[in-house]
Amino acid sequence: MSQKIRAIKGMEDLYQTETLKLWRFVEQSARDIFGGAGFQEIRTPIVEDAALFERSVGEATDIVEKEMYTLLDRNEKRLALRPEGTASVVRAFIEHFTSHQILEAKFYYLGPMFRYERPQKGRYRQFHQIGAELFGTDHPLSDVEIIGLTFRLLTQLGLTNIKLKLNTLGSSACREKYLAALKDFLQGIHDKLDPATQARVQRSPLRVLDSKDPEVQKLLKQSPSILDFISEEAKEHWQQVQAGLKRMEIPFELDERLVRGLDYYEKTVFEITAEGLGAQNAVAGGGRYNRLVKDLGGPEVPAVGFALGMERLVSLLQAKNLKLPKRRRLYALGLEENSEQILFAELTKLRQAGFIAQMDFGSGSLKAKLKRASRWDADFVLILGESERDKGVVILRDMHASTQKEIPISELVTSLKI
Ligand code: AMP
Repeated sequence: MSQKIRAIKGMEDLYQTETLKLWRFVEQSARDIFGGAGFQEIRTPIVEDAALFERSVGEATDIVEKEMYTLLDRNEKRLALRPEGTASVVRAFIEHFTSHQILEAKFYYLGPMFRYERPQKGRYRQFHQIGAELFGTDHPLSDVEIIGLTFRLLTQLGLTNIKLKLNTLGSSACREKYLAALKDFLQGIHDKLDPATQARVQRSPLRVLDSKDPEVQKLLKQSPSILDFISEEAKEHWQQVQAGLKRMEIPFELDERLVRGLDYYEKTVFEITAEGLGAQNAVAGGGRYNRLVKDLGGPEVPAVGFALGMERLVSLLQAKNLKLPKRRRLYALGLEENSEQILFAELTKLRQAGFIAQMDFGSGSLKAKLKRASRWDADFVLILGESERDKGVVILRDMHASTQKEIPISELVTSLKI
């Protein structure tokens, strides 16, 4: 027997009907929420020039240095499977919008991302994100918009134990001053740090702040605070973001250690964590990136965005036993030809009104037809025969209660909708 070929480690098949229903429900909820706020969908290629991520996410980040899938195409061009969505959306925005002098746009996206991480619960090598990017403004309320929509998506899906953590990194100018002070501080405690952290101090000092090591965290207690370095303008921005969130009654915690693992952020950064996910407890994260469009060759356009992890979100919803809103199923039985014609015309109206509706075209007795309805899991059966037709009514049979009543055909949709 020849050897079986298996799926790549850390990459999963999605085939269970119930799980797929949940995925579609989450995706649709995201489309509704972001679409409802004026965001348009964007679908970018899964493969990009590797330089795109090196120049945006940053060469010294784990994502690019250790986790990015890179490959050479047949022409020796270096490509990468996208490890995240923002860089691609920025590239596409520069290519298709700014070239037409459109400097404002809002996008949302859904799709697979790839990172060569150690697979474990909640961490995969192919995972899926929903994200949104808002280009063209530095207005603090646009930060509130992104954070608020993300938060609303999660709470509307029924999540309660979520925590929103917020920090500011200051604008790029204040960040430079802060970085110098932080580096000084870290050099002062250099001998007390482990070799991996020492190396990080050199390459990416900000990232030392989000070390998971309790020893390192203890040493960091005396580290300088960004709040002592940020400009009046960045401070004002930061306060307005917080005021906006309070006004929207979105609870948050300030976390000075939150820096996020990508290089392009400045000013507001945020992360949403949830209970019940174990070590990988971050569901969503994002922040402001005012320099990235320019750094990738576009004009100066400020922006803010976020991304959430589908697998983690779906596993939270599964644990909560979320009941999906179910569309009611109607099965229509016409007992002779004229009745079939009339009922058939009603089906379109019922479908437009949101019901799943179909007609029985099979032969056999009423009993046989009802059996088919029950096998199909119908919630209601509509029955029309000559005598009902004469009275202008239709029989509505409730398959769960095993009761039935007559209702006027003209009122079918309205009476069912209640
Ligand atoms: P990031 O782009 O790293 O900020 O990630 C945003 C969100 O994507 C995280 O909060 C996670 O929910 C999810 N995520 C990131 N990496 C993975 C992964 N390897 N497997 C599953 N989900 C992930």
